[in-house]
Amino acid sequence: MSARIIDGKAVAKSVREDVAAGVAALEKDHGFTPGLAVVLVGEDPASQVYVRNKGIATREAGMRSIEHKLPADTSQDEVIALVRRLNGDDEVDGILVQLPLPGHIDANVVINEIDPDKDVDGLTEVNAGRLVLGKDALVPCTPQGSILLIKTVMEDMSGANAVVLGRSILVGKPLASLLLAENCTVTTAHSRTKDLEEVCRGADILCAAVGRPEMVKGDWIKPGAVVIDVGINRVDAPEKGEGKSRLVGDVDYDAASAVAGAITPVPGGVGPMTIACLLKNTLTAAKRRRGL
Ligand code: NDP
Repeated sequence: MSARIIDGKAVAKSVREDVAAGVAALEKDHGFTPGLAVVLVGEDPASQVYVRNKGIATREAGMRSIEHKLPADTSQDEVIALVRRLNGDDEVDGILVQLPLPGHIDANVVINEIDPDKDVDGLTEVNAGRLVLGKDALVPCTPQGSILLIKTVMEDMSGANAVVLGRSILVGKPLASLLLAENCTVTTAHSRTKDLEEVCRGADILCAAVGRPEMVKGDWIKPGAVVIDVGINRVDAPEKGEGKSRLVGDVDYDAASAVAGAITPVPGGVGPMTIACLLKNTLTAAKRRRGL
């Protein structure tokens, strides 16, 4: 048996097209264009690339991208002052503070300064609480994207056994809440979980978000299961030449594909969904703020 490959690029493209159509409709019917403000502190090269890509995607969807690039030695109070200014700016519908922040800034404090109704990353305590309580939340982008991918191969998840490997605030915990909202029976596994392999073997839906290259082996997977690999790990690839590397997930893709019913590749699975869901959240925030 060979698993169906879940094409995250194609699903993300369709989400982005839907967002662009929604933005165009807002302009036509209500005369406004949603705006996403991104705050970048410092010169971390990976963060610079992410911010650039987010800006391009935002403009491609027809929204305004407002970028605030601050030097690495900006104080926490200055970052907070900027966030408060953006909270009060009616032209700004979504605010994203790019993580990680430099060491002298407490990311938790800064994030929780964001107006929850503009928190398009879904990382404030208010949105985390809303999600757990089943209320209208802005939901973190990667877990939201993972659910959309599962839905392409499993319309009704009701009653399915879902196992989430990892319990981070960014991925594992919100993903478990979303699966619960889909009426799955959810197990959250982590570094202290006993008999991890056996727990995974019970999963109809297995989501791996651990950050350990190819940790999940083929014989951990229930035949026919849906496997969502959130992990993005860079490993050496001497076969490509000296000093070369490649990206792998948290799942041993080749072995898992022989057992699973459907699986996301890395790259090209969950990754592209993250920015797509950021745009989706910005549109949602813009509409909700105006009572639409
Ligand atoms: P964290 O490091 O914050 O969390 C990792 C989780 O995995 C922890 O809960 C940890 O358990 C658990 N874990 C670690 N080792 C083991 C183990 N041996 N057995 C069982 N559980 C283990 O990572 P993130 O959640 O932020 O990210 C996870 C992965 O997803 C990374 O590869 C990251 O790059 C990727 N990622 C991808 C995104 C995308 O756009 N596709 C976006 C965000 C992340 P414990 O809590 O007990 O320590």
